[in-house]
Amino acid sequence: MDWLGRLKGRSHSATPTAPVCGRCGSGVITNLERIEGLHRIAKELGGTVDEKKTGVNLPSRLANVKGSLLDAAEQMKTSAERTAARSEELKQKLKENASRCGFRCKECGKVYCMTCLSNYAQPHPVSRGKACFACGGSLAAFDGPTAGS
Ligand SMILES: [Zn+2]
Ligand SMILES: [Zn+2]
Repeated sequence: MDWLGRLKGRSHSATPTAPVCGRCGSGVITNLERIEGLHRIAKELGGTVDEKKTGVNLPSRLANVKGSLLDAAEQMKTSAERTAARSEELKQKLKENASRCGFRCKECGKVYCMTCLSNYAQPHPVSRGKACFACGGSLAAFDGPTAGS
């Protein structure tokens, strides 16, 4: 699913199932969409999604080193530079993907985006995650459209 296209395409007619942040009003993606995003990023950059589904593993070396010793040294250098550039790109993409992920309050059902939560929410005393802005309940990432909307 192309969630970026979906986010752009719903500027004037909001899709009823598409959740938005209850604080800043920006569209959020579900945990499933976040994982889809991870797979997309992994594919783009030639890596694989890690077991915990929170990040992407890049291959440690992008190019096989062949040829003379001098060539090899040169190739390893460019390979290391390329790897560094790619992991920087990966970090950006992962951050953007994760920041769009929405969390739903288990108590009142309100949805908030990751950006608002990480910047403004109080820590929840029991779950050790973030607490709901409205009621202080614990929040969890969700896999489907919000209930009752
Ligand atoms: Zn927000
Ligand atoms: Zn709540």
